[in-house]
Amino acid sequence: MDFDDDARLDASQVEDARGLPIGGMALGGGTIGVIALIAALVFDVDPSQILGGESGESGSAPPANSLSSKCRTGADADQSEDCRIVGVVNSVQAYWKQEFADSGRTYPVARTRLFSGATSTACGNATSAVGPFYCPGDKRVYLDLGFFEELHAKFGAKGGPFAQAYVVAHEYGHHVQDVLGTMRKVGDDRQGASSASVRLELQADCYSGVWAKHAVRTGFFNKPFTDRDIAEALDAAQAVGDDRIQERARGRVDPESFTHGTAEQRKRWFSTGYATGEPSRCETFAGGI
Ligand SMILES: [Zn+2]
Repeated sequence: MDFDDDARLDASQVEDARGLPIGGMALGGGTIGVIALIAALVFDVDPSQILGGESGESGSAPPANSLSSKCRTGADADQSEDCRIVGVVNSVQAYWKQEFADSGRTYPVARTRLFSGATSTACGNATSAVGPFYCPGDKRVYLDLGFFEELHAKFGAKGGPFAQAYVVAHEYGHHVQDVLGTMRKVGDDRQGASSASVRLELQADCYSGVWAKHAVRTGFFNKPFTDRDIAEALDAAQAVGDDRIQERARGRVDPESFTHGTAEQRKRWFSTGYATGEPSRCETFAGGI
């Protein structure tokens, strides 16, 4: 992954809330209103331990954006992890903006908030244990960069810059689903190998692949992604498959509790998006998955 040195980054799309107190954090109660990259059960914690408290923007004030002075160009994105996230967020949203425009729609830009440890969201308070997630209530992607170390250490992924890009693009896939109304299809069908939850997640993986296919055209990168880049994404997608996670955490696999799809499915749907570049081919809600 090689950014165009002269590409202009828009750091206003990423808020830096790391190190800020979240204030009034109350754990327990509440339900998960967020759409995470991975299943909460991986950590063997009760979901009520992860999220809870009052909904609403009750926590910290909007953070001052320290990234805008640091992350100005593609050269900065090649140098620093923070700026690389900005660059990927910019590219992913540039793609969807164009894709929406091509079909006469307007894409609403969604911010990513970097946090460390815990954060307050319109979906309740969240700790890093939930992994990267999207909150429909405030239309934000939440990311603790420490997750990427866990992705390697706990989930056995090789990691790498493109593994991060896959995750960011997956979360923005959820934003697209939110905007298009697809998210409402999940309803109470939140678990099981062919549940709506799994279908939603696999579609977000597919959307991540669609972005990867078109990323060079967004103007943020010098050249198409390499096989090695794509291999990092596929490896990460497999590492967060429900079966892999359950096998690692519990030594057995229970398809009835799947929420995100198997390693094979996650890899395959990312690949479908990448091969076709067509969001309409991410038809995970119709037929077999
Ligand atoms: Zn997801």
